[in-house]
Amino acid sequence: MTAAHSYDALMDITPRPPIVFVRGEGNWLWDGSGKRYLDFVQGWAVNCLGHSPPAIAEALARQSRTLLTPSPAFYNAPSLELAQALVNSSCFDHAFFTNSGAEAIEGAIKLARKYGALHRDGAYEIITFDGAFHGRTLAAMSASGKKAFEPLFEPKVPGFPKAKLNDLDSVKALINRKTVAVMLEPVQGEAGVWPATDKFLQALRELTRQYGLLLIVDEIQTGIGRTGKLFHYQHADIAPDVMTLGKGIGGGVPLGVLLATTSASCFEYGDQGGTFNGNPLMCAAGLAVLQQIDQPDFLQQVVDNGAFFVDELERLSARHGLGEVRGRGLLLALDLERPIGPSIVAEALRDGLLLNAPRPETLRFMPALNVTQYEIAQMISQLDAILAKLGAEVTH
Ligand SMILES: *Cc1c(COP(=O)(O)O)cnc(C)c1O
Repeated sequence: MTAAHSYDALMDITPRPPIVFVRGEGNWLWDGSGKRYLDFVQGWAVNCLGHSPPAIAEALARQSRTLLTPSPAFYNAPSLELAQALVNSSCFDHAFFTNSGAEAIEGAIKLARKYGALHRDGAYEIITFDGAFHGRTLAAMSASGKKAFEPLFEPKVPGFPKAKLNDLDSVKALINRKTVAVMLEPVQGEAGVWPATDKFLQALRELTRQYGLLLIVDEIQTGIGRTGKLFHYQHADIAPDVMTLGKGIGGGVPLGVLLATTSASCFEYGDQGGTFNGNPLMCAAGLAVLQQIDQPDFLQQVVDNGAFFVDELERLSARHGLGEVRGRGLLLALDLERPIGPSIVAEALRDGLLLNAPRPETLRFMPALNVTQYEIAQMISQLDAILAKLGAEVTH
């Protein structure tokens, strides 16, 4: 911080530590004083290849010298290539690029309502789930099932009745003539890493088919290799109708995607658009990310390192009398069984380690997908020491 800068010039929208990060490389971040931090947050599962990976830096540099944007009213090569690559690797047929996850969710909601207008006699309700997080636009907040959102920005956008995750009867009970879709995160990330079971995803697919409803998976956090498959829905061997991507697809730059099958892809001219949507610069970064991650060896390494990570967390939990380890691939949580998450996060920050506690009694881990076992072991040993210290403080 120099005298020329003040923290006050930014809107104060969240408590932030008085640290300014100036550089990142792989799993490491440096602040202005030269202090180094091991990063197991990675911008909330965003930097899937770590900080400033050469592949993205080169793609951005090359594309910025070639073409920044011709306007979304014209085709550009990177967006065509990225759309084709995503379609080839998934069960979807068409892509619409956005600038954030919430904007992709907004698009999914509009697409479902359009589908309802065209095919379901004006049905518009989208069943979502308690604990869900779908982003911070007004409709995305309304679709979310986050308690803290409930009193905010009333009146909400109507039409999002809430069911319970892994409880098919709670979904069935909400279906009526106005229902057009069911939308869920295959693993509820912000709620504290609560996975939908593969059986539940399969049952939802069957149920939505039976009633002619769209199944929308929000893979903004779980997609792009995070759970060990390119997309999480592939674990359950189902084919949803609509999917949203964000976070990892840009590898650190703002990029989201709305994907749909041919039968669900029903926007007409004038329904959807946006100035920066599908701009070549961000799509070039997305292509660089996908080329590295959509490889059997890369995804196998996520699975192997995830298993190693779970093992280490379970031993740590046993040593300190903590709770269960949840999640899949490299989206993991450790239940602390006590609201000590914020103290752990603060202590870790002092100790040069970035951790996240989405709930006071839960730690969530979302390292870069190319994190090494060595770095996982280093994080575990730092966390071990922090827990020992906090445990000692609690008992004495
Ligand atoms: C982060 C997230 C969003 C919102 O994405 P933004 O890019 O922050 O708008 C939506 N859904 C899920 C599951 C997320 O994890």
